[in-house]
Amino acid sequence: MTLATLADVLQPALKQGYAVAGLVTLGWEDMRAYVAAAEAEGVPVILQAGPSCREHTPLTVLGKMFRHLAEDASVPVVAHLDHGYTLDDCREAIDSGFTSVMFDGSRKPIDANIAETRTIADLAHAAGVSCEGEIGFVGYSGGEGSSGTDPEDAARFATETGVDAMAISVGNVHLQQDKEGGLDIPRIRAIEAVTNVPLVIHGGSGVPVEQRRSLAQGSNICKFNIGTELRMAFGHVLREAVNRDPARFDRVSILKETHDPVVDAARRVLRAFKGE
Ligand SMILES: [Zn+2]
Repeated sequence: MTLATLADVLQPALKQGYAVAGLVTLGWEDMRAYVAAAEAEGVPVILQAGPSCREHTPLTVLGKMFRHLAEDASVPVVAHLDHGYTLDDCREAIDSGFTSVMFDGSRKPIDANIAETRTIADLAHAAGVSCEGEIGFVGYSGGEGSSGTDPEDAARFATETGVDAMAISVGNVHLQQDKEGGLDIPRIRAIEAVTNVPLVIHGGSGVPVEQRRSLAQGSNICKFNIGTELRMAFGHVLREAVNRDPARFDRVSILKETHDPVVDAARRVLRAFKGE
C-alpha cells in the first residue's frame, strides 16, 4: 500500500530539488500506464481526476480505481481531484477516498478565493487529506486569457488558506499542443521570495522540456500538471491500433496495444522532473 497525500510527495520534492508529475487521467488504460511508468522510473506520481474525467466516470468509481492502483504500486501514488469548483466537489472526492483535492477559486475575487479555499483546506486536513489552491488565473489555449499571479497576493493566499500546494499563473496556459511558450522566471522568483509553499504549474504540456527540468531542480515548483501531451500520445497510438486491422471489433484487444507506447511516453515526461 503506497497511497500518499500531496504533502507526502511534495515536501521531499521541495527539500531535495525535484518535481512530481500530476498526470491527468481519463480512464483505466491511462492511469494504469502512468503508474507502470512511475514504477519503471522509481518516482512518485499524482493521478488526477479533472472535470472531463469526472464527466465520464463517477468520482466514487475513480477513487476506488486510484486506490486499487496505489495498493499494488511500488512507488507513492496520490489520488488527486483536479479543479474542484465547489465545496461539494471536494467533499465528494474526500468521501470517495481521494487523498488530495484541488479547489479552483481562481476566477473569484481574492477575498472570496481565500475564504472558500480556507474552508476546504480545513475540511481536507481534518480528514487527513491534502489541499491545493490556485491564485492568479491560468487561461486556456484558444479560450479565456490568463491573469498573472501577483507575488503579494500569493504570500497572503498561502498564509491565510493553509494550503499544501499553490497553483500559480506565470505564463502557463492549459491545453497547449506545442511547447513554444515558456514560463516567466522573474515572476516565479518574486513568488518564491515571499512564500515557501510548494508551487504548481498547470498547463505543463506547454512548457519546454528543458525548462521543466531546470525548474524542477532549481525552483520551488514541485508539481507540473501534464494532460494534453499524454492525451495526444494516447490518441495517436489508439488511432494506429484501430486502423491496423479494420476487421477487429473487440476494444480490449485494441486498447492492449496502447499500453506500452503510453508507458514510454509517460516515462519520458517523468524523467525530466527527476532533478538528475
Ligand atoms: Zn489546471
